[in-house]
Amino acid sequence: MTRCAARWFVLALTAGPLFAAHAAASAAETGPSLTWDLSDLYAGTDAWSAAYTRTRAQVEQFDRFRGTVGNSAGDLLKALSAISDARREAARLGVYASLQGDEDLRVAPAQERRQQAQTLATLIDEKTAWLAPEIIALGQAKVDSLIQSNAELKRRFDFFLKDTLRGAPHTLGPEAEAVLAASGDVLSQPSTVYHQLADAELPYPTIELSNGQKVRLDSAAYEKHRTAASRSDRKAVFDAFWGAWKGYQGTMGANLASQDIGDVFTAKTRRFNGALEAALFGDNIPPEIYRTLVAQANAGLPTLHRYLRLRKRLLGIEGDLAYYDNYPTLIPAKSVPSFSVAESERLTLAALAPMGEEYLALLRRGFAGRWMSVMPRQGKRSGGYMNGGAYDVHPYLLLNHTDDYQSLSTLAHEWGHAVHTLLTTANQPFEKAQYSPFIAESASIANEMLLNDYMVDHAKTRYEKLFYLGQGLDAIRGSFFRQVMFAEFQLQMHQEVEQGLPLSGEHLTENYCKLLKRYVGEAEGVMKIDPLYCTEWEFIPHFYLGFYVYQYATSMAGAAQFSDAILKEGARARDRFINLLKAGGSDYAYELYKRAGIDLATPAPYQALFARMNRVMDQIEVLQQAR
Ligand SMILES: [Zn+2]
Repeated sequence: MTRCAARWFVLALTAGPLFAAHAAASAAETGPSLTWDLSDLYAGTDAWSAAYTRTRAQVEQFDRFRGTVGNSAGDLLKALSAISDARREAARLGVYASLQGDEDLRVAPAQERRQQAQTLATLIDEKTAWLAPEIIALGQAKVDSLIQSNAELKRRFDFFLKDTLRGAPHTLGPEAEAVLAASGDVLSQPSTVYHQLADAELPYPTIELSNGQKVRLDSAAYEKHRTAASRSDRKAVFDAFWGAWKGYQGTMGANLASQDIGDVFTAKTRRFNGALEAALFGDNIPPEIYRTLVAQANAGLPTLHRYLRLRKRLLGIEGDLAYYDNYPTLIPAKSVPSFSVAESERLTLAALAPMGEEYLALLRRGFAGRWMSVMPRQGKRSGGYMNGGAYDVHPYLLLNHTDDYQSLSTLAHEWGHAVHTLLTTANQPFEKAQYSPFIAESASIANEMLLNDYMVDHAKTRYEKLFYLGQGLDAIRGSFFRQVMFAEFQLQMHQEVEQGLPLSGEHLTENYCKLLKRYVGEAEGVMKIDPLYCTEWEFIPHFYLGFYVYQYATSMAGAAQFSDAILKEGARARDRFINLLKAGGSDYAYELYKRAGIDLATPAPYQALFARMNRVMDQIEVLQQAR
């Protein structure tokens, strides 16, 4: 599942929860049953424009609620309902604009509607900036009594109100809030600088591969050719690509330092005890989770090292294993069956049977509807995602199905997000329907794991079985260990800024080298790292998203514990899992997990993931011996 690393790049859109996957696009046929029907959202662009104008006019009136929210529970409910209704319609407008824009990125009016929808979302934020300070000014006791006196207010808004009050110690006076809001643009510049260099101005090298093909190694070509079967090609790709980045080490060091100094500045200004605490505050995630994750990944390194040794054996590498040997799939995909869309749906239903009838019925209903744009097409957005932002309609899914195992696995993954959305919307009011990314990826990765187990169990040949086992393993390396290493690097950088230490590019490369060598077991003789490749940190866009990547790793650990429990305990574990999905965003993600029997601040989920990895490696070794 090599797409995993890229899938984790969640696109920030105003259109509500959108969980992205990544798969290569190629030309293929399109049939009517394989395209989505956007008229479930709006009859057409005229209807969209009318709804847009109406909603915008409502938003412009929000000032009339200023100063009213403390009058009575009825007045508070009136203000919150009006704002919530506008957000609900704005989300639906955003979904339509975004999906239609993704059908063909070359059509300008569709892209303009997307822009309009984003502007509307920003306008709602601006027009309601007074709300949180006014609620905080009412105080806990008053807010509690208002909630208790009105059932409708309690049903829809109690969590929102409680969460707003939680922000009181970190909410500043109006003047300071205005300054912080205005500093946002300045603080986001390092990311702009990164993309300017990485996507446009960096002089990417051109190399000649062993088959005589000349390739210009930009980011996409690098990601493609690092999987080359020829080892000397992989080395040439790495040497040229990282050599190019090495020339910008000082510039990118200063740029990433600016990002981290900005994070620390914001945290300090908002009276947080460090940048990590500030980053985790929004979802109310206890910082121990981050530290437990890092400690557990380090305790699990012998499992990663076992995997790397196995990789060396399976790839038949003589001498030292190198960093560029990480990317070819463990078992090549030759003679593995292909999976049409219909076959992928059938296999997904079969593999998810342990999820029970309620889950399967939703999946069947979704497959029967026109909710998916499935096939690759020119101009269509690449990759895959689920967009569940239209609360009153249904989820939509964009895929680029190419009939390989990755396509099948992506389908199961994205439908995991879709069923999560269906279960949430059926059980929560709109105001509690937006679930955290901290939970979302567990719902989808659990599906991938159940599918992978099913494919292994039903493989027709020894070779097929090995292939599926290898896919499951590669996913854990990329989505768990690599992401935790990034998370550890980020924490270290921010701590150094907090201690007043300077961060030069050279220093960052040194830090990265030490971490990388520890993770891949250089001292244990597992893999040898060429220092040139330690400039990899320059290339990772996620370092400009604050503390984000750790959630990929925690989600995968959560999914491992869930899928184990569902297979072992059956209905009891399954009900806990389904209830978690039904809970949506009605409470904090960590609390919801704990209620479902999983505590990500303890070693158990991480141990479950390592046990899974070792179990798979045992199976591979047995199959290898049987040869
Ligand atoms: Zn996902």
